[in-house]
Amino acid sequence: MISTWATEALALLDDERARVGVTPLGEFPLPASWGVRLWLKDESAQPTGSLKHRLARALLADAIAAGRIVAGTTVVEATGGSMAVAQAYFAQLLGLPYIAVMPKKSSGEEVERLGGSYRHVDPPLAIYEEAEKLARAVGGHYVDHYTAAATVGWRGGSLADELFEQVTECPRWIVVGAGTGATAAAAGRRLRAGGLPGRLAVVDPENSAYFPGWASDAPDYSTGMPSRIEGIGRPRMEPGFVADLIDLVVPVPDAASVAAARWVRQVTGLPVGPATGTNLWGALEIIARMRAQGVRGDVVTLIGDAHPRHLRACHDDGWAESRGLDWRPYEKRMARLLEEHDAGGAMDRGSGR
Ligand SMILES: *Cc1c(COP(=O)(O)O)cnc(C)c1O
Repeated sequence: MISTWATEALALLDDERARVGVTPLGEFPLPASWGVRLWLKDESAQPTGSLKHRLARALLADAIAAGRIVAGTTVVEATGGSMAVAQAYFAQLLGLPYIAVMPKKSSGEEVERLGGSYRHVDPPLAIYEEAEKLARAVGGHYVDHYTAAATVGWRGGSLADELFEQVTECPRWIVVGAGTGATAAAAGRRLRAGGLPGRLAVVDPENSAYFPGWASDAPDYSTGMPSRIEGIGRPRMEPGFVADLIDLVVPVPDAASVAAARWVRQVTGLPVGPATGTNLWGALEIIARMRAQGVRGDVVTLIGDAHPRHLRACHDDGWAESRGLDWRPYEKRMARLLEEHDAGGAMDRGSGR
């Protein structure tokens, strides 16, 4: 039987979801003559600034409903990224102690500001084992989002659930990146379950196992190399990446992701992360194919996150150059592709909130 605490905790999570409401769906300007419209669902509008907000809420709700988190349980996770910030936010909301086990290069500042704590661990790949050990030692719950994402129940709060309430017509393509794979799987399930005509594309950065694993039908494929695009791309195929739901995986060069992220910032003013660039680049490739085939319709992709720290990374010339990421050729290609487009048109961020 579910405890009073759990009932109240789940109600708090549902209330938070209702309070946040729907994230904006803004139009990215394309030449009208193309007959293709591109929409960006802006997950940077979430209270913790990224699409991890939804997943963190859903994962904690699952663990509470299953009795793995009860009153006072210490929540432990292995990540230094925006998942840690999102989980710390929800742990604070529910009055639960929170510890993020993160690589040394990650900052724990925001987690602390949200009442959580963090441990730095070296080497980076040791965070998973350390988090599991720590959770056992304190009698806490190790969320393990890469594993838990495979079975997450969204309680109606998935990005796909929300998107389909915002659009009037099913998009031709939905284009997303894959970290855990949960966002892609939710979109794929929505499309398949509804028998909808839309297709799902996953964009994948360099070093990631997802594109080669998908393309060669090798579910155990591993590169052993970390992705340089924060939030997406994995060294191995994760359990939450459901290849059967995915129509196409588009490999995107990291320098193209940087170029496109800078482009999104110019259009929206938001300091988006590089994964949003990967999304835009992949969406534009798909749109180029649609145009070549004379196909019209809508394409939807995401602003995955935005944060001032990205101004010192992918939006900074010196940073990109020091990593050998020459975005300029890709910027030129994008400019050529979009040249019919009137540069004065700002992105419409009006709807949905
Ligand atoms: C985590 C993340 C993704 C991928 O989402 P998953 O649901 O974990 O696959 C995409 N973009 C950004 C910015 C992310 O942080």
